[in-house]
Amino acid sequence: MIKLDLGPEPSKLKDKREERLPLAIQAFNVHGHGSKELNELLDEGYQVARPTLLHRQHSKCAFCENLEDHESRPVEHFRPKKEAHDDMSGSVIAVTSHYWWLAWTWSNLYFSCIQCNKNGNKGSLFPIKAGTSRAAAPTKPLADPIPDSFYDFSAESALLVDPRTDEPLDHLQWIPVKRTAPRATWRWTIEGLSDKGTETIRIFGLKDRIDRVNGYLEGLKLTAIEIDKHLAAARLDEAREVFTRLVVQYVNNASSPFRNAAYWALDALYPEAARSAHGFCALPRPHVTENTDPLPAPRGKKAKKPKARSGSSKDHPRPGGQA
Ligand SMILES: [Zn+2]
Repeated sequence: MIKLDLGPEPSKLKDKREERLPLAIQAFNVHGHGSKELNELLDEGYQVARPTLLHRQHSKCAFCENLEDHESRPVEHFRPKKEAHDDMSGSVIAVTSHYWWLAWTWSNLYFSCIQCNKNGNKGSLFPIKAGTSRAAAPTKPLADPIPDSFYDFSAESALLVDPRTDEPLDHLQWIPVKRTAPRATWRWTIEGLSDKGTETIRIFGLKDRIDRVNGYLEGLKLTAIEIDKHLAAARLDEAREVFTRLVVQYVNNASSPFRNAAYWALDALYPEAARSAHGFCALPRPHVTENTDPLPAPRGKKAKKPKARSGSSKDHPRPGGQA
């Protein structure tokens, strides 16, 4: 997982929210949360965000960074739109009142692979730190528009890394399983650097898919051996050039999968002190900024020119304008 800036919400999602949220508030006020009337509303509309999410996430799952080129993959509600569950030390507890009012909220939506989103992995889980309080849920009667306070989660101690608001590299690290083994045989595994990181690995089942990441890192590892040969022969310029090539290809390239793993793999192969001693280029933290390439045109049509950004990078929709 890497930090994502997914830009402003698409206008189609805003239109859907303005159409459906007032109906949802009405259903909540009349029938309550968990009602059939409200739940039916929650199942529709948010899918209009899928093409934009897919495009701006460079066709990668927001959580495991696997490349996903199929547009039928899920739109994941980071905070579940219904039937939210906590997971306290493996004991799953229903949280019945959360977070239906975020069903069409841009900052709550991600493009996800099936494995990360399925029941048994993330599903409708949204754990918070033990002993802390969940953000307040609306009570009846709820005003329309919904007060801003219900969109402020800064005090909620979530135990899942949010790639929009957290720096995933502070929570998730790929490390060599056996650092003392010859480097040509290294394999990597993912570990948490915090409670949030550890829970994120467990909830998304990220360790189940380390073989795929290790397969991808084979090419990086073989090229690192090439660097070692250059260093052993005192060919510093060649070693620097190959290291730069690895950084560009595996870490900086927005379209590459598993950039978190590649960052930590290069950092393990050539720690800061070694990079400095050899005069290697910097190893930047991988971030995704909004993909400003035009959306691919449907077959038979020309690609649209990219629209100018609105000037606001705020991606937390708010009631009262519902931006
Ligand atoms: Zn995934």
